[in-house]
Amino acid sequence: MQGFKCRFCGSALKNRVVDLGMSPLCESYLKEEQLDRMEPFYPLHVWVCQHCFLVQLNEYVKAEEIFTEYAYFSSFSSAWLKHAEDYVAMISERLGLSSTSFVVELASNDGYLLQYFVKKGIPCLGIEPAANVAKSAEARGVRTDVSFFDEAKGRALGETQKADLILGNNVLAQVPDLNTFVAGMPHLLKPTGTVTIEFPHLMRLLDENQFDTIYHEHFCYFSLISAERIFAGHGMTIFDVEELWTHGGSLRIYARHAADESRPVSDRVLALREREEAAGYRKLETYTRFEEQVRETKRKILELLISAKRQGKRIVGYGAPGKGNTLLNYCGIREDFLDFTVDKNPYKQGRYLPGTHIPIFDPARIDEVKPDYIFILPWNFKDEIMAQLAHTRSWGAKFIVPIPAPTVL
Ligand SMILES: [Zn+2]
Repeated sequence: MQGFKCRFCGSALKNRVVDLGMSPLCESYLKEEQLDRMEPFYPLHVWVCQHCFLVQLNEYVKAEEIFTEYAYFSSFSSAWLKHAEDYVAMISERLGLSSTSFVVELASNDGYLLQYFVKKGIPCLGIEPAANVAKSAEARGVRTDVSFFDEAKGRALGETQKADLILGNNVLAQVPDLNTFVAGMPHLLKPTGTVTIEFPHLMRLLDENQFDTIYHEHFCYFSLISAERIFAGHGMTIFDVEELWTHGGSLRIYARHAADESRPVSDRVLALREREEAAGYRKLETYTRFEEQVRETKRKILELLISAKRQGKRIVGYGAPGKGNTLLNYCGIREDFLDFTVDKNPYKQGRYLPGTHIPIFDPARIDEVKPDYIFILPWNFKDEIMAQLAHTRSWGAKFIVPIPAPTVL
Protein backbone atom coordinates (compact mmCIF):
# COMPACT_ATOMS: atom_id res chain seq x y z
CA MET A 1 0.00 0.00 0.00
CA GLN A 2 2.09 2.85 -1.25
CA GLY A 3 1.19 6.20 -2.62
CA PHE A 4 -2.60 5.83 -2.58
CA LYS A 5 -4.44 8.95 -1.55
CA CYS A 6 -7.93 9.67 -0.25
CA ARG A 7 -10.17 10.36 -3.23
CA PHE A 8 -11.89 13.20 -1.40
CA CYS A 9 -9.24 15.06 0.59
CA GLY A 10 -5.97 13.72 -0.85
CA SER A 11 -4.43 12.53 2.45
CA ALA A 12 -2.21 9.43 2.25
CA LEU A 13 -4.17 6.31 3.19
CA LYS A 14 -2.53 4.44 6.06
CA ASN A 15 -5.27 2.58 7.94
CA ARG A 16 -6.83 -0.62 6.71
CA VAL A 17 -10.46 -1.51 7.40
CA VAL A 18 -10.40 -5.00 5.88
CA ASP A 19 -8.38 -7.11 3.45
CA LEU A 20 -10.64 -9.50 1.53
CA GLY A 21 -7.74 -10.91 -0.47
CA MET A 22 -7.75 -11.16 -4.24
CA SER A 23 -11.05 -11.29 -6.08
CA PRO A 24 -12.30 -11.17 -9.68
CA LEU A 25 -14.70 -8.41 -10.78
CA CYS A 26 -17.97 -9.43 -9.23
CA GLU A 27 -20.08 -8.82 -12.35
CA SER A 28 -17.80 -10.72 -14.75
CA TYR A 29 -19.97 -13.78 -15.24
CA LEU A 30 -18.16 -16.36 -17.35
CA LYS A 31 -19.28 -18.27 -20.41
CA GLU A 32 -18.37 -21.93 -20.62
CA GLU A 33 -15.50 -21.37 -23.07
CA GLN A 34 -13.86 -18.95 -20.59
CA LEU A 35 -13.57 -21.50 -17.80
CA ASP A 36 -10.20 -22.84 -18.93
CA ARG A 37 -8.64 -19.43 -19.34
CA MET A 38 -6.76 -17.17 -16.97
CA GLU A 39 -9.04 -14.90 -15.00
CA PRO A 40 -7.98 -11.50 -13.65
CA PHE A 41 -8.07 -11.12 -9.87
CA TYR A 42 -7.56 -7.77 -8.16
CA PRO A 43 -6.86 -6.85 -4.54
CA LEU A 44 -9.96 -6.13 -2.46
CA HIS A 45 -8.54 -3.98 0.32
CA VAL A 46 -10.53 -1.29 2.06
CA TRP A 47 -8.96 1.74 3.71
CA VAL A 48 -10.16 4.60 5.86
CA CYS A 49 -8.85 8.14 5.60
CA GLN A 50 -7.62 9.28 8.99
CA HIS A 51 -8.43 12.88 8.09
CA CYS A 52 -11.98 12.82 6.60
CA PHE A 53 -13.02 9.22 7.55
CA LEU A 54 -14.02 8.34 4.02
CA VAL A 55 -13.88 4.54 3.69
CA GLN A 56 -12.61 3.54 0.27
CA LEU A 57 -11.02 1.10 -2.11
CA ASN A 58 -8.24 2.04 -4.46
CA GLU A 59 -9.18 2.14 -8.11
CA TYR A 60 -7.57 -1.24 -8.81
CA VAL A 61 -9.58 -1.49 -12.00
CA LYS A 62 -10.55 1.37 -14.31
CA ALA A 63 -14.25 2.18 -14.11
CA GLU A 64 -14.55 2.03 -17.91
CA GLU A 65 -13.62 -1.67 -17.76
CA ILE A 66 -16.33 -2.36 -15.23
CA PHE A 67 -19.35 -0.43 -16.38
CA THR A 68 -19.43 -0.53 -20.16
CA GLU A 69 -21.25 -3.85 -20.32
CA TYR A 70 -22.99 -4.42 -17.07
CA ALA A 71 -24.97 -7.51 -16.16
CA TYR A 72 -27.02 -5.79 -13.50
CA PHE A 73 -30.47 -4.98 -14.85
CA SER A 74 -32.41 -3.37 -12.00
CA SER A 75 -35.78 -4.45 -13.37
CA PHE A 76 -35.32 -8.10 -12.39
CA SER A 77 -36.19 -7.51 -8.76
CA SER A 78 -39.83 -6.84 -7.96
CA ALA A 79 -38.97 -5.43 -4.52
CA TRP A 80 -36.56 -3.03 -6.16
CA LEU A 81 -39.17 -1.86 -8.68
CA LYS A 82 -41.65 -1.24 -5.89
CA HIS A 83 -39.03 0.83 -4.07
CA ALA A 84 -38.52 2.94 -7.21
CA GLU A 85 -42.24 3.45 -7.76
CA ASP A 86 -42.80 4.48 -4.14
CA TYR A 87 -39.91 6.93 -4.34
CA VAL A 88 -41.31 8.57 -7.49
CA ALA A 89 -44.75 8.99 -5.88
CA MET A 90 -43.23 10.43 -2.67
CA ILE A 91 -40.75 12.84 -4.25
CA SER A 92 -43.18 14.10 -6.92
CA GLU A 93 -45.56 15.11 -4.17
CA ARG A 94 -42.94 16.46 -1.77
CA LEU A 95 -41.36 18.70 -4.44
CA GLY A 96 -44.59 19.40 -6.35
CA LEU A 97 -43.14 18.08 -9.64
CA SER A 98 -45.24 18.54 -12.80
CA SER A 99 -45.07 18.58 -16.59
CA THR A 100 -42.96 21.77 -16.36
CA SER A 101 -40.33 20.19 -14.09
CA PHE A 102 -37.15 18.42 -15.12
CA VAL A 103 -35.68 15.34 -13.45
CA VAL A 104 -32.24 13.84 -14.12
CA GLU A 105 -31.15 10.44 -12.85
CA LEU A 106 -27.44 9.68 -12.65
CA ALA A 107 -26.72 6.03 -13.55
CA SER A 108 -30.29 5.37 -14.62
CA ASN A 109 -29.63 1.71 -15.47
CA ASP A 110 -32.42 0.18 -17.58
CA GLY A 111 -34.92 2.96 -16.81
CA TYR A 112 -36.43 0.96 -13.91
CA LEU A 113 -37.07 4.19 -11.98
CA LEU A 114 -37.51 6.94 -14.58
CA GLN A 115 -40.27 4.92 -16.25
CA TYR A 116 -42.53 6.02 -13.35
CA PHE A 117 -41.78 9.71 -14.04
CA VAL A 118 -42.52 9.08 -17.74
CA LYS A 119 -45.91 7.61 -16.73
CA LYS A 120 -46.68 10.74 -14.71
CA GLY A 121 -45.77 13.01 -17.63
CA ILE A 122 -42.82 14.55 -15.75
CA PRO A 123 -39.95 15.27 -18.19
CA CYS A 124 -36.80 13.35 -17.35
CA LEU A 125 -33.42 12.27 -18.62
CA GLY A 126 -31.28 9.31 -17.66
CA ILE A 127 -27.48 9.28 -17.73
CA GLU A 128 -26.08 5.77 -18.02
CA PRO A 129 -22.62 4.62 -19.11
CA ALA A 130 -23.49 0.99 -19.95
CA ALA A 131 -24.78 0.98 -23.52
CA ASN A 132 -26.53 -2.39 -23.23
CA VAL A 133 -28.69 -1.38 -20.28
CA ALA A 134 -29.29 2.12 -21.71
CA LYS A 135 -30.79 0.43 -24.76
CA SER A 136 -33.44 -1.29 -22.63
CA ALA A 137 -34.22 2.07 -21.02
CA GLU A 138 -34.86 3.65 -24.42
CA ALA A 139 -37.11 0.70 -25.28
CA ARG A 140 -39.11 1.62 -22.20
CA GLY A 141 -39.51 5.21 -23.40
CA VAL A 142 -36.86 6.65 -21.07
CA ARG A 143 -34.63 9.21 -22.80
CA THR A 144 -31.04 8.18 -21.98
CA ASP A 145 -27.66 9.79 -22.55
CA VAL A 146 -24.96 7.07 -22.74
CA SER A 147 -22.11 8.62 -20.75
CA PHE A 148 -20.39 8.99 -17.39
CA PHE A 149 -21.53 11.96 -15.33
CA ASP A 150 -18.84 14.40 -14.24
CA GLU A 151 -18.29 18.12 -13.79
CA ALA A 152 -18.03 18.82 -17.53
CA LYS A 153 -21.18 16.83 -18.24
CA GLY A 154 -23.09 18.62 -15.45
CA ARG A 155 -22.03 21.99 -16.80
CA ALA A 156 -22.93 21.10 -20.40
CA LEU A 157 -26.38 19.78 -19.46
CA GLY A 158 -27.02 22.72 -17.12
CA GLU A 159 -26.42 25.20 -19.95
CA THR A 160 -29.41 23.75 -21.81
CA GLN A 161 -31.78 23.03 -18.93
CA LYS A 162 -31.34 22.95 -15.16
CA ALA A 163 -32.97 20.28 -13.04
CA ASP A 164 -35.56 20.53 -10.27
CA LEU A 165 -34.44 17.12 -9.09
CA ILE A 166 -31.20 15.22 -9.56
CA LEU A 167 -31.25 11.72 -8.19
CA GLY A 168 -28.70 8.97 -7.92
CA ASN A 169 -29.41 5.60 -6.39
CA ASN A 170 -26.43 3.39 -5.76
CA VAL A 171 -24.08 5.38 -7.93
CA LEU A 172 -22.15 7.57 -5.48
CA ALA A 173 -20.24 4.54 -4.22
CA GLN A 174 -19.42 3.52 -7.77
CA VAL A 175 -17.71 6.62 -9.12
CA PRO A 176 -13.93 6.48 -9.06
CA ASP A 177 -13.55 10.25 -9.24
CA LEU A 178 -15.88 11.25 -6.47
CA ASN A 179 -14.98 14.95 -6.55
CA THR A 180 -15.65 15.57 -10.22
CA PHE A 181 -18.91 13.61 -9.99
CA VAL A 182 -20.29 15.58 -7.04
CA ALA A 183 -18.94 18.82 -8.54
CA GLY A 184 -21.17 18.28 -11.59
CA MET A 185 -24.38 18.46 -9.55
CA PRO A 186 -24.49 22.17 -8.63
CA HIS A 187 -23.99 23.12 -12.31
CA LEU A 188 -27.05 21.12 -13.30
CA LEU A 189 -29.25 22.01 -10.30
CA LYS A 190 -31.73 24.91 -10.26
CA PRO A 191 -31.09 27.45 -7.46
CA THR A 192 -33.93 25.90 -5.43
CA GLY A 193 -33.51 22.36 -6.79
CA THR A 194 -33.04 19.20 -4.79
CA VAL A 195 -30.54 16.35 -5.02
CA THR A 196 -31.44 12.97 -3.55
CA ILE A 197 -28.81 10.28 -3.34
CA GLU A 198 -29.13 6.80 -1.92
CA PHE A 199 -26.16 4.75 -0.79
CA PRO A 200 -25.58 1.84 1.57
CA HIS A 201 -25.02 3.17 5.09
CA LEU A 202 -21.54 2.44 6.35
CA MET A 203 -22.79 2.13 9.91
CA ARG A 204 -24.99 -0.81 8.90
CA LEU A 205 -22.18 -2.39 6.89
CA LEU A 206 -19.82 -2.36 9.88
CA ASP A 207 -22.41 -3.18 12.56
CA GLU A 208 -23.96 -6.05 10.61
CA ASN A 209 -20.90 -7.65 9.01
CA GLN A 210 -22.00 -6.81 5.49
CA PHE A 211 -18.49 -7.33 4.14
CA ASP A 212 -19.91 -8.91 0.97
CA THR A 213 -21.24 -5.52 -0.15
CA ILE A 214 -17.59 -4.59 -0.67
CA TYR A 215 -16.51 -5.07 -4.26
CA HIS A 216 -14.32 -3.44 -6.87
CA GLU A 217 -17.29 -1.58 -8.31
CA HIS A 218 -17.85 0.15 -4.96
CA PHE A 219 -15.04 2.61 -4.52
CA CYS A 220 -16.46 4.41 -1.46
CA TYR A 221 -18.53 3.57 1.64
CA PHE A 222 -20.25 6.51 3.33
CA SER A 223 -21.42 7.55 6.74
CA LEU A 224 -23.63 10.63 7.01
CA ILE A 225 -20.63 12.39 8.54
CA SER A 226 -18.39 11.72 5.52
CA ALA A 227 -21.17 12.51 3.01
CA GLU A 228 -21.87 15.87 4.68
CA ARG A 229 -18.23 16.80 4.41
CA ILE A 230 -18.07 15.89 0.71
CA PHE A 231 -21.24 17.75 -0.25
CA ALA A 232 -20.12 20.79 1.74
CA GLY A 233 -16.84 20.65 -0.17
CA HIS A 234 -18.86 21.21 -3.36
CA GLY A 235 -21.13 24.02 -2.17
CA MET A 236 -24.08 21.88 -1.11
CA THR A 237 -25.79 21.17 2.21
CA ILE A 238 -27.46 17.91 3.25
CA PHE A 239 -30.72 19.17 4.76
CA ASP A 240 -32.61 15.92 5.28
CA VAL A 241 -31.98 12.19 5.52
CA GLU A 242 -34.04 9.01 5.61
CA GLU A 243 -32.98 5.52 6.60
CA LEU A 244 -34.09 2.85 4.10
CA TRP A 245 -34.20 -0.96 4.08
CA THR A 246 -32.48 -1.29 0.68
CA HIS A 247 -29.10 -3.06 0.30
CA GLY A 248 -29.12 -4.10 3.93
CA GLY A 249 -29.67 -0.52 5.15
CA SER A 250 -29.19 2.63 3.11
CA LEU A 251 -29.41 6.37 3.55
CA ARG A 252 -31.32 8.68 1.26
CA ILE A 253 -29.84 12.13 1.62
CA TYR A 254 -31.48 15.34 0.44
CA ALA A 255 -29.09 18.08 -0.61
CA ARG A 256 -29.51 21.65 -1.88
CA HIS A 257 -27.26 24.53 -2.81
CA ALA A 258 -25.64 25.84 0.38
CA ALA A 259 -26.92 29.30 -0.57
CA ASP A 260 -30.56 28.10 -0.69
CA GLU A 261 -31.53 28.69 2.92
CA SER A 262 -35.25 28.20 2.32
CA ARG A 263 -34.97 24.69 3.78
CA PRO A 264 -33.22 24.36 7.15
CA VAL A 265 -31.26 21.28 8.18
CA SER A 266 -33.77 18.84 9.69
CA ASP A 267 -33.79 17.20 13.11
CA ARG A 268 -33.30 13.87 11.37
CA VAL A 269 -29.89 15.00 10.10
CA LEU A 270 -28.89 16.24 13.54
CA ALA A 271 -30.06 13.04 15.24
CA LEU A 272 -28.28 10.68 12.85
CA ARG A 273 -25.08 12.74 12.98
CA GLU A 274 -25.18 12.46 16.79
CA ARG A 275 -25.77 8.71 16.59
CA GLU A 276 -22.77 8.25 14.31
CA GLU A 277 -20.60 10.37 16.58
CA ALA A 278 -21.73 8.40 19.63
CA ALA A 279 -20.95 5.15 17.77
CA GLY A 280 -17.38 6.36 17.20
CA TYR A 281 -17.41 7.34 13.54
CA ARG A 282 -14.87 10.05 14.23
CA LYS A 283 -12.41 7.52 15.72
CA LEU A 284 -10.11 5.28 13.70
CA GLU A 285 -10.50 2.19 15.89
CA THR A 286 -14.21 1.97 14.98
CA TYR A 287 -13.09 1.19 11.45
CA THR A 288 -9.95 -0.85 11.99
CA ARG A 289 -11.53 -3.42 14.31
CA PHE A 290 -13.85 -4.59 11.47
CA GLU A 291 -11.34 -7.04 10.00
CA GLU A 292 -11.43 -9.49 12.89
CA GLN A 293 -15.24 -9.44 12.81
CA VAL A 294 -15.17 -10.40 9.10
CA ARG A 295 -12.69 -13.23 9.65
CA GLU A 296 -14.86 -14.69 12.38
CA THR A 297 -17.95 -14.51 10.11
CA LYS A 298 -16.06 -16.49 7.45
CA ARG A 299 -15.15 -19.16 10.01
CA LYS A 300 -18.80 -19.46 11.09
CA ILE A 301 -20.13 -19.72 7.52
CA LEU A 302 -17.62 -22.47 6.72
CA GLU A 303 -18.37 -24.29 9.95
CA LEU A 304 -22.06 -24.44 9.02
CA LEU A 305 -21.41 -25.61 5.45
CA ILE A 306 -18.81 -28.20 6.47
CA SER A 307 -21.16 -29.66 9.06
CA ALA A 308 -24.02 -29.90 6.51
CA LYS A 309 -21.79 -31.59 3.93
CA ARG A 310 -20.47 -34.07 6.51
CA GLN A 311 -24.10 -35.06 7.10
CA GLY A 312 -24.45 -35.71 3.37
CA LYS A 313 -26.72 -32.75 2.68
CA ARG A 314 -27.19 -31.22 -0.73
CA ILE A 315 -26.77 -27.42 -0.82
CA VAL A 316 -27.52 -25.06 -3.70
CA GLY A 317 -27.36 -21.29 -3.99
CA TYR A 318 -30.11 -18.81 -4.75
CA GLY A 319 -29.18 -15.68 -6.69
CA ALA A 320 -26.01 -14.57 -8.43
CA PRO A 321 -25.60 -11.02 -7.11
CA GLY A 322 -22.32 -9.15 -6.98
CA LYS A 323 -22.26 -9.47 -3.20
CA GLY A 324 -22.48 -13.25 -3.50
CA ASN A 325 -19.29 -13.28 -5.50
CA THR A 326 -17.37 -11.36 -2.84
CA LEU A 327 -18.63 -13.72 -0.17
CA LEU A 328 -17.94 -16.94 -2.08
CA ASN A 329 -14.47 -15.87 -3.21
CA TYR A 330 -13.42 -14.60 0.21
CA CYS A 331 -14.70 -17.74 1.94
CA GLY A 332 -13.39 -20.10 -0.77
CA ILE A 333 -16.81 -21.68 -1.40
CA ARG A 334 -17.05 -23.48 -4.75
CA GLU A 335 -18.89 -26.55 -6.03
CA ASP A 336 -17.37 -28.37 -3.06
CA PHE A 337 -20.22 -26.77 -1.06
CA LEU A 338 -22.79 -25.36 -3.52
CA ASP A 339 -23.77 -27.63 -6.43
CA PHE A 340 -25.00 -24.63 -8.41
CA THR A 341 -26.88 -21.39 -8.00
CA VAL A 342 -29.95 -20.01 -9.80
CA ASP A 343 -30.95 -16.55 -10.95
CA LYS A 344 -34.03 -15.04 -12.57
CA ASN A 345 -31.88 -12.88 -14.85
CA PRO A 346 -31.60 -14.70 -18.21
CA TYR A 347 -28.31 -12.88 -18.90
CA LYS A 348 -26.72 -14.83 -16.06
CA GLN A 349 -28.32 -18.23 -16.72
CA GLY A 350 -25.95 -20.66 -18.44
CA ARG A 351 -22.96 -18.66 -17.22
CA TYR A 352 -20.65 -19.25 -14.26
CA LEU A 353 -19.82 -17.18 -11.19
CA PRO A 354 -16.48 -15.36 -11.50
CA GLY A 355 -13.65 -16.93 -9.52
CA THR A 356 -15.61 -19.81 -8.04
CA HIS A 357 -17.01 -21.07 -11.39
CA ILE A 358 -20.27 -22.21 -9.79
CA PRO A 359 -22.82 -22.72 -12.62
CA ILE A 360 -25.94 -20.51 -12.77
CA PHE A 361 -29.27 -22.05 -13.81
CA ASP A 362 -32.90 -21.06 -14.11
CA PRO A 363 -34.68 -21.16 -10.71
CA ALA A 364 -36.78 -24.14 -11.93
CA ARG A 365 -33.68 -26.30 -11.36
CA ILE A 366 -34.28 -26.12 -7.60
CA ASP A 367 -37.58 -27.99 -8.01
CA GLU A 368 -35.86 -30.65 -10.11
CA VAL A 369 -33.08 -31.50 -7.64
CA LYS A 370 -34.92 -30.79 -4.35
CA PRO A 371 -31.89 -29.74 -2.27
CA ASP A 372 -31.73 -29.90 1.53
CA TYR A 373 -30.43 -26.33 1.89
CA ILE A 374 -30.83 -23.19 -0.20
CA PHE A 375 -28.05 -20.68 0.48
CA ILE A 376 -29.48 -17.18 -0.12
CA LEU A 377 -26.77 -14.97 -1.58
CA PRO A 378 -28.85 -11.74 -1.93
CA TRP A 379 -29.74 -11.90 1.79
CA ASN A 380 -31.15 -8.37 1.62
CA PHE A 381 -34.10 -9.90 -0.31
CA LYS A 382 -34.41 -12.95 1.93
CA ASP A 383 -38.07 -12.39 2.81
CA GLU A 384 -39.10 -12.03 -0.84
CA ILE A 385 -37.04 -15.11 -1.80
CA MET A 386 -38.27 -17.33 1.03
CA ALA A 387 -41.86 -16.40 0.14
CA GLN A 388 -41.25 -17.30 -3.52
CA LEU A 389 -39.68 -20.60 -2.51
CA ALA A 390 -42.18 -21.45 0.23
CA HIS A 391 -43.15 -24.62 -1.71
CA THR A 392 -39.64 -26.07 -1.17
CA ARG A 393 -40.61 -26.63 2.49
CA SER A 394 -42.78 -29.50 1.20
CA TRP A 395 -39.67 -31.65 0.74
CA GLY A 396 -38.07 -30.25 3.88
CA ALA A 397 -35.69 -27.68 2.38
CA LYS A 398 -34.19 -25.11 4.74
CA PHE A 399 -32.67 -21.72 3.99
CA ILE A 400 -29.20 -20.51 4.94
CA VAL A 401 -28.82 -16.75 5.33
CA PRO A 402 -25.11 -15.89 5.72
CA ILE A 403 -25.23 -12.27 6.93
CA PRO A 404 -25.09 -10.74 9.59
CA ALA A 405 -24.34 -14.16 11.08
CA PRO A 406 -24.94 -17.50 9.34
CA THR A 407 -28.42 -18.70 10.24
CA VAL A 408 -30.59 -21.65 9.19
CA LEU A 409 -34.27 -20.75 8.69
ZN1 LIG B 1 -9.81 11.94 3.22
